[in-house]
Amino acid sequence: MRPALLNPLFVPVTSLSGVGPKQDKLFRHLLARDETPRLVDLLFHLPASVVDRRARPKIRDAVPGTIVTLEVSVDRHRPPPPGRSRAPHLVHASDETGDVVLTYFRAQPGYVEKLLPAGSKRYVSGTVQMFDGTLQIVHPDRVVDEAGLAELSGIDPVYPLTQGLAPGALRRAIAQALQNLPVLPEWTDPKILRRCGFPPLAQALRRVHAPLELTDTLPEGPFWSRLAFDELLAGQLALALVRAQLRRPAGNRHAGDGHLRNRIIDALPYALTASQRQAVAAIIDDLRQSVRMLRLLQGDVGSGKTVVALLAACAVAESGKQTALMAPTEVLARQHIKTIAPLAERAGLRVAILTGREKGRERREITARLAEGDIDLLVGTHALIQDEVTFKSLALAVVDEQHRFGVRERLALTAKGEAVDVLVLSATPIPRTLVLTYFGDMDVSELRDKPAGRQPIDTRAVSDARLNEVIDAVGRAVKAGKLAYWICPLVEESDAVDLSDAEQRYQSLKARFGDRVGLVHGKMRGPEKDRVMAQFAAGEINLLVATTVVEVGVDVPKATVMVIENAERFGLAQLHQLRGRIGRGSEPSTCLLLYREPLGAMSAARLRVIRETTDGFRIAEEDLRLRGEGDVLGTRQSGLPGYRIARSNVHAQLITLARDEALRILKQNPNLTGSHGEALRCLLYLFERDEALPLLGAG
Ligand code: ADP
Ligand code: MG
Repeated sequence: MRPALLNPLFVPVTSLSGVGPKQDKLFRHLLARDETPRLVDLLFHLPASVVDRRARPKIRDAVPGTIVTLEVSVDRHRPPPPGRSRAPHLVHASDETGDVVLTYFRAQPGYVEKLLPAGSKRYVSGTVQMFDGTLQIVHPDRVVDEAGLAELSGIDPVYPLTQGLAPGALRRAIAQALQNLPVLPEWTDPKILRRCGFPPLAQALRRVHAPLELTDTLPEGPFWSRLAFDELLAGQLALALVRAQLRRPAGNRHAGDGHLRNRIIDALPYALTASQRQAVAAIIDDLRQSVRMLRLLQGDVGSGKTVVALLAACAVAESGKQTALMAPTEVLARQHIKTIAPLAERAGLRVAILTGREKGRERREITARLAEGDIDLLVGTHALIQDEVTFKSLALAVVDEQHRFGVRERLALTAKGEAVDVLVLSATPIPRTLVLTYFGDMDVSELRDKPAGRQPIDTRAVSDARLNEVIDAVGRAVKAGKLAYWICPLVEESDAVDLSDAEQRYQSLKARFGDRVGLVHGKMRGPEKDRVMAQFAAGEINLLVATTVVEVGVDVPKATVMVIENAERFGLAQLHQLRGRIGRGSEPSTCLLLYREPLGAMSAARLRVIRETTDGFRIAEEDLRLRGEGDVLGTRQSGLPGYRIARSNVHAQLITLARDEALRILKQNPNLTGSHGEALRCLLYLFERDEALPLLGAG
C-alpha cells in the first residue's frame, strides 16, 4: 500500500480551490490522463521556459517589444461604445514620465474596471508595444496591487498549456499543490547527491515551479536533473526488481530435440538470414541455461521476427510446453497468426488465436483446450492476460512491441506459468541507452540484415503544391493494378479533426477513382477493419486511404506505393515504420513524402534522413541525434515515453547512473528492508513504479 505520507500528493486536483469540473477536463487533457489528475501530476508538469519580468523601467524608458513591469496610476477607462462589443476596452494609465494604454479585447463587462479601478495604483506586467505613437500593453499578463507585488517573483514559469486553460489558472493550481508537499525521506544516496550537486527533492520541485534565477527551470540544471534522476531511479529499480524475480533459477529447462524446428525450417519458402539463425541459436541457448531467458529481439519492420519467435515456440513445444505470443493490437495478432498458422500446420504445431473478438462458445473452447495442453502456441492481445485464461504449462512468453505494454502486463503474462522465459520483440531499433530505460538489463539480439530479394524503395519528398501531380501519378499506378497506401496526417486515434481529414481525402480520391478506393482508420470496428484490409490484400481495392493504424505490423507484400501526407508532422521512427509497409514484395516500391511549405530545419533534416536510408538502426541513431528525445519510440510526447521528467538527450548519463544505482541497491538490500528500504519504496510509489513491490512482500 502507498505510504500515508504520500497521500496529500495523490488527492485529485479538484480538491484545490478554483479547480472545478471545467478545469478538471482541461487538466485531464493537458496531463494526458483518463481520470482526474492528482496533485502529483501537476507537480511533475514542468515549465517549458520562463518569462523575466524583473525590468521595472519608468514609462518613458520602456523599450517596445520587451517585457516590463510598470508602476502606474490608472487615469480613466474607455469601454467599447455601446453596440460595438468588438472594439477594445482601453485603460489610460501613466506615471510621472509618460502615458501607457492598456488594451483589452472581448473583456467581460465590469472585469477591467474591477482589475484596474480608476484612481488606483497598479503594477502591470506585459510586453510593451508602440501603436499609433502611444505606448501600449495588450492584455497585460499580470496586474497586481501593492500587496500582490510581494508575490510577483519577477520570474514566471511558462508551462505547456492546452486550449482553453489560462496560464494563471495552471500557475495558481501548481502553487497550491506545492503547499501540500509533505516532508519526504531522502532515498537517493548521499554520494550521488554530492557528486551531482542535487538539492533535496522538495527544494528541486519548489525551484522549478517558482524559479529565483532564469536558469532554474533548465532541464540540465540541478533542480530538474534531481527530479529526472529520481524518476529514472524509480524506473530502473522497478525493472531491476522484475528482472531479479524473473532471473530466479528455473527448474526444468526446455529446448527440445529440434524435430519441430527442423520441420518448420524445411517448410519455409525461403532461407533464414544469418541474423535470424544467430537469434534462434541464442534463444535456444538461453532456453538451456539454468537462469530464465530475458531477451530482446530487435529488428526493423519486415526483418522477419515472427519466424524467429515461431522457432522458439517450437523448441518449447518439443518438450511439451506452451508459448504465448502477445501483440499490442488485434490487427497485429491476426497478422502473426496468418504468418504462423500455415507453417505450424505443416510441422504439427497446434496454434490458436485469442483476442477480444473470440467470444462465447468459441472462447470457452479455446481456453479449455489451452488448459488441457492441446494448444502449443496461443497468439493474442491483452485478452491473454485475463484471469480465465489458464495454461497447462506456459514456458515462454513472447511479447511483441513491448514498449506499448507496461511492466504490469509482462508480469501478468509470466505469472501464468512457472519460471517463464521472456522474449520481447521490438520493431523499433533503439539505441542501447534507451533499451536500458525501457527494458532494463536484457540480452539483445538484432536482426540487421534484410531478408533476401527485398527491393529498394525509391523515396522522394514532394511539396504539397504539387498535390495534383501526385494524385495523377497515383492514379496511373492504380490503373496499372498496383496497390497503394495513402496515409493521412498524424492521427490521435481519438481526434475527430484528423479523422475528418482522412475521410475527406477518401471522399475526394473516391470521386476520382471510384470503387478502387478504400478507407481504414482506428475508429473502425475490428471485423470492418479486417474486411477492408483483406480487400486491399486481395487487390479488390487498389488505393487504401489510412490513418496511422497501418503503422504497426500490417503485411501486404504486393503494396508498392505509399503517399504520406503532411510528412513533416511525423517523427522519424513513425515515417520509417509507415514506409516499412511497402518494399516487402519482389517489386520495386515508391514512397512519396508530401510536405507543406515552409519546411522547418528539423522537418527538412528528418525527411532527408528518410530519403537517404532504409536502415532502421541508422534511422534510430539519427533520430536520437536530431531530436534527442521523443519520437525515438514513435510516440509524440516531448519527453521519454512513460517518463514525464527525464529527457533522453539531456539526461542520458543519468540513465546509466540510475541503472547502476538500482543494481547496487538490490544487491545490498534485495528486499528493500530497513529505513532506507522504506524510503525507496516511497520513491517507487511516488513515481507509480510499485508494480513489482508485491513480489517482495511486506518490507
Ligand atoms: P517483422 O519483423 O516485421 O515482424 P515478419 O516476421 O512479419 O517481420 O516478416 C515479414 C515477411 O518476411 C513475412 O512475410 C515473412 O514470411 C518474410 N520473411 C521472414 N524471414 C524471411 C527470410 N529470411 N527471407 C525471406 N522472407 C522472409
Ligand atoms: Mg512483426
